[in-house]
Amino acid sequence: MKTKKLIIGISSCLLGEKVRYDGKSKRENSLIAKLEIVATLLPICPEVEIGMPIPRERLNLVGSLDSLKMIAEESHKDWTDEMREFSKRRICQDDFKSLAGLILKSKSPSCGLHSTKVYDGETLVSEKADGLFAATVRKELPELPIIDELSLRDASHFKDFIKCVTAYAESSA
Ligand code: SF4
Repeated sequence: MKTKKLIIGISSCLLGEKVRYDGKSKRENSLIAKLEIVATLLPICPEVEIGMPIPRERLNLVGSLDSLKMIAEESHKDWTDEMREFSKRRICQDDFKSLAGLILKSKSPSCGLHSTKVYDGETLVSEKADGLFAATVRKELPELPIIDELSLRDASHFKDFIKCVTAYAESSA
């Protein structure tokens, strides 16, 4: 019997799509090659999907870990509420519900996992925040296996992640 291929969501820029604020990608060639053997990859870019242009001004997380805001660097537009609301809607869409795991780009104000810098004025408050999209996914779907590309480069983490993804897919089949 043919087994159904796993579906894993991935930050679009890691898959090579030129969606970053600077119009570039951050393709992870060797990870993608390994992942495509075991899974179908679904690209997701919260910033583009919410309607931001490419290129665009940089976004920063500001405030404190308890009260994060997502603020555009030049215009100072506050994207916090829009990004939180978008994230809640996005994870309810059918393609997202089909995911057995999620790979996110480290250090991003949207996608970062325990790795995004937070500033209060000129002061660096933390380098360990979740981006706003990542935070919503973790809060609303705590069982979904999630990892960033930095951790996934480690062979044992890669193996463990695929095990968790497989188990998650089986449990939700
Ligand atoms: S890190 Fe996330 S929001 Fe930023 S470009 Fe990549 S996919 Fe888009």
